[in-house]
Amino acid sequence: MGKVLVIGAGGVSTVAVHKMASLTEVFDEILLASRTKSKCDAIAERIGRNRVQTAQIDADNVPKMVKLIRSFKPDIVVNVALPYQDLHIMDACLETGVAYLDTANYEPLEEAKYEYSWQWAYRDRYKKAGITAILGCGFDPGVTSVFTAYAAKHHFDELHYLDIVDCNAGDHGKPFATNFNPEINIREVTQKGKYWENGTWKLTKPHEIHKPLTYPDIGPKESYLIYHEELESLVKNFPALKRARFWMTFGQEYLTHLRVIQNIGMAGIEPVMFDGREIIPIRFLKAVLPDPGELGENYKGWTSIGCRIKGVRNGREKTYYVYNNCSHEAAYKETGAQGVSYTTGVPAAIGAMMYLKGIWKKPGVFNVEEFDPDPFMKQLNLLGLPWVELHDIDLEL
Ligand code: NDP
Repeated sequence: MGKVLVIGAGGVSTVAVHKMASLTEVFDEILLASRTKSKCDAIAERIGRNRVQTAQIDADNVPKMVKLIRSFKPDIVVNVALPYQDLHIMDACLETGVAYLDTANYEPLEEAKYEYSWQWAYRDRYKKAGITAILGCGFDPGVTSVFTAYAAKHHFDELHYLDIVDCNAGDHGKPFATNFNPEINIREVTQKGKYWENGTWKLTKPHEIHKPLTYPDIGPKESYLIYHEELESLVKNFPALKRARFWMTFGQEYLTHLRVIQNIGMAGIEPVMFDGREIIPIRFLKAVLPDPGELGENYKGWTSIGCRIKGVRNGREKTYYVYNNCSHEAAYKETGAQGVSYTTGVPAAIGAMMYLKGIWKKPGVFNVEEFDPDPFMKQLNLLGLPWVELHDIDLEL
């Protein structure tokens, strides 16, 4: 049905490419390209059957990206490199007239700040060129946004309160590790908390607001209010929302490590002199922390991510909870990667499938909740991320 170019060869890519390779009726040809070609080769070798071609690319080099796209002629480019590459890859897609999909919004290297403004600025150009960009197609953002769109379409007349709840109840056996790229992860969780209430953004100190929430088949876990990028587009696309928040579980041990890392300056993104050369502390930290892509082998337990929503249906107040629980062990058995990579990589593959099937295809730049959620929700059930709905329950929030 179509050709896909995947950029990046980390944990998320491992899963996305595994899934794409298994969907022979959708993905005819797959080219996996990244900064370090040997990582692409290792993924391709694990999949076997000569299903995946590989190439070296620095995605920040737009002319080289354009050349690669022109030689392979993909229908869509799936960006599972880092958020820093988003705009460069979008530029290359624009120049070549090829569709674009990613799982994380653009972040400038020199500032730990992420928002959609940079990518939304491409809307007119993509529209004029007649090409599609699908933004934020992992789990959160991604599935959580599709869950919200599904709830709005089938269960509510108006959404009023949205709480996205993200629990990782897994244990990888390491004293400290991050579940995806450490640099991006630490930048995300150490910033100020932020949520939407009554038409404005409210700021909190990092991890200031927290409470135990009960996760299905897991139990109560302390959950912390943090800012997460899908809130920005969801409050625009569902303007009846009076409040929208994001909660993530952290263990005490994780928070203690994080505090020490910050206090000793290892989370810094400004260059410092070390042995006569400049280094960026958080980059150095990444080099000594466990590789998230390698955590899978001993990872036990589950992730549980979902949306808890209160709103109205036929004049009556209603509550609703839709979630997925994913087993780290099952994810590793299937793909060689842990659950957080799995919950991100599978939706990226499904998003690309939606485009290739012509279901999510329209000119412009879109967040995933702007497409029909139903065919995507169907594929989640078929491709390893089944979801559960609960109606009229105590949301605890
Ligand atoms: P990794 O760090 O494991 O992998 C990133 C890959 O991108 C590496 O292979 C890296 O190359 C490659 N890369 C980095 N810079 C370049 C470049 N200039 N050109 C080409 N390739 C490059 O990250 P993850 O797999 O954990 O995460 C991938 C993405 O998924 C991130 O953007 C992350 O924010 C996002 N994510 C989204 C989630 C969601 O639910 N929406 C959840 C988790 C992650 P090298 O091997 O040489 O370092």
